[in-house]
Amino acid sequence: MSENAWSTPFEIDAGVHSIIGKVRDHNEDAYLVNLALGLYAVADGLGGHQAGEHASSLAVQVLGAQLGRVHELGVAPSLDSLLEAFDRANLRILEDADAHPERQGMGTTLTAVLIYGRRLLLAHVGDSRAWRIRDGQIEQLTRDHTIVEEQVRGGALSTEDARHHPMRHILSRCLGIRDEIEVDLVEADVSVDDIYVLVSDGLTPGCGPEDMMALIRENPVAEQAARVLVSHACERDGQDNITAVVVACREG
Ligand code: MG
Repeated sequence: MSENAWSTPFEIDAGVHSIIGKVRDHNEDAYLVNLALGLYAVADGLGGHQAGEHASSLAVQVLGAQLGRVHELGVAPSLDSLLEAFDRANLRILEDADAHPERQGMGTTLTAVLIYGRRLLLAHVGDSRAWRIRDGQIEQLTRDHTIVEEQVRGGALSTEDARHHPMRHILSRCLGIRDEIEVDLVEADVSVDDIYVLVSDGLTPGCGPEDMMALIRENPVAEQAARVLVSHACERDGQDNITAVVVACREG
């Protein structure tokens, strides 16, 4: 029962690339690529003195460990499994900050997808993004949890104003700040030849959705595609850490 519940008929090709970028002195992005669980994630930490990278790495560790436990129990994965993992990651970061005052205020985004059978489960907090490329179209599966994005949705700001807004990076939701977190959850079907791309916000200024589609079309191997997306973004911007996870679902 356990293996069937988690296995997928697709042949998965997954790749990842993560860099510091041109100006930062350390990489606060973290990622998870776990083919056995079908679990992929990007986390982008915040907080000084290396606390940000600690928060993002704790988030992906707790996520992987918790889903690993669900897998071992032989239970099919669900949105509740992801939600529970996000809750645990949040509490773990809060506990760690309590135990280490120098890390107070650290937080992280966390965007995760789990592919099992022909289904996709997605959980998301913050402004890392998940995209889906299907039939030559690219669609953003997540919405950014930033103050500016909330204002755009509320009609107080235009999309164009938001693009250059000085506060566009300020998060309205993240892990590690409060006991309670609000997680966006999505469940969807997976089709053959779907490609899922998870990115930290450092990719966005230098690599828009059309660029992503073109570069992935030119680079069909996931590892190579991830590398090319990140270097393309860095050449054009590179002010932040940049991470991309590419997951291609091919005919098995
Ligand atoms: Mg970032």
